[in-house]
Amino acid sequence: MAAFGTNFTSQMVTSSYSAGQWSSLKLEPVQPFALHPATHVLHYASECFEGLKAYRTAAGDIHLFRPDRHVARMQRSAERLLLPIPSEEELLRALHMAVAAASGEIPAYPGALYLRPTLFGTSADIGAAARPADSAVFYVLPSPVGDYFAGGLKPLRVKVDDKAQRSTPSFGEVKTGGNYAAALREVVRAKEELGADQVLFAPGGDVQETGAANFVVIEDSHLLTKPLDGSILPGVTRDCILTLARDAGLTVVERNFTVAELLELAPRAEAALTGTAAVLTPVGELVYNGETVRVGTGEMGPWSTRLREQLCAIQSGTADDPYGWRVPLHQA
Ligand SMILES: *Cc1c(COP(=O)(O)O)cnc(C)c1O
Repeated sequence: MAAFGTNFTSQMVTSSYSAGQWSSLKLEPVQPFALHPATHVLHYASECFEGLKAYRTAAGDIHLFRPDRHVARMQRSAERLLLPIPSEEELLRALHMAVAAASGEIPAYPGALYLRPTLFGTSADIGAAARPADSAVFYVLPSPVGDYFAGGLKPLRVKVDDKAQRSTPSFGEVKTGGNYAAALREVVRAKEELGADQVLFAPGGDVQETGAANFVVIEDSHLLTKPLDGSILPGVTRDCILTLARDAGLTVVERNFTVAELLELAPRAEAALTGTAAVLTPVGELVYNGETVRVGTGEMGPWSTRLREQLCAIQSGTADDPYGWRVPLHQA
């Protein structure tokens, strides 16, 4: 299968906002948008997005994974960016419409249908630097994805950066392209200079998250992660892992912790990244100030393995879903 993110179904769901109103949802071919060169998003980055998955189980049933959470987060992102906010009902309907249209193209588990809801400002006005967009486009782009770990689940080498900022103290919780733009140079440099897969942003020593995933440390029956204080993305996968960890008997500690503390814990800990695309990925090495510190044995640890398997079993439909995370596709 094509690389993650480059393969799309033939249809997407769209809606546009103008004169104070959203148009009704439309199923249309995946095709380029025609944008005026003065379009707001191109100049002032009025954009937010989501990423979630729909799965087809071995029995053939189709479900969306925690769509309510993704919809609520998209509404919060839109609100923070002063973009028009589609209603919860319309957002959910758009997701189900997109999945229903692609129901014949959902790869078998561990493949899935990745959904990319996107919202951007379209006012053709380069004078609107200090004004919100008064028109917008919303769409859901479906992308069939294969096994993210077809090449095996290899622990990551992660650069710990205590200087660079991924975002700002309050904008970090917004799922917007601007935050990715802010992180890009550091991620590329870490790859080129250190062979690192990701950068763990820890400005001023405060351990936050990587460019696109939350970060957890597990040590001595405690799972440690940064609290949702506005500086990090409130990951849906993070919430799943914290829930499963609590129910498995780990003590979940959401508090700030420093790079020094992380490096001290690392040799006897497990560490992992969480996010929709990769679920849970172990971190095997941290690189700080040019020195490599191994996390635990350097291999995926027992807690990471267990929590990942539990979440994957709920997603694939092979385990019960006591939390109500699977939402069956509404067949229109
Ligand atoms: C999307 C994203 C995550 C992961 O969120 P999930 O809801 O678990 O997919 C984490 N950090 C950032 C910066 C993100 O953009």
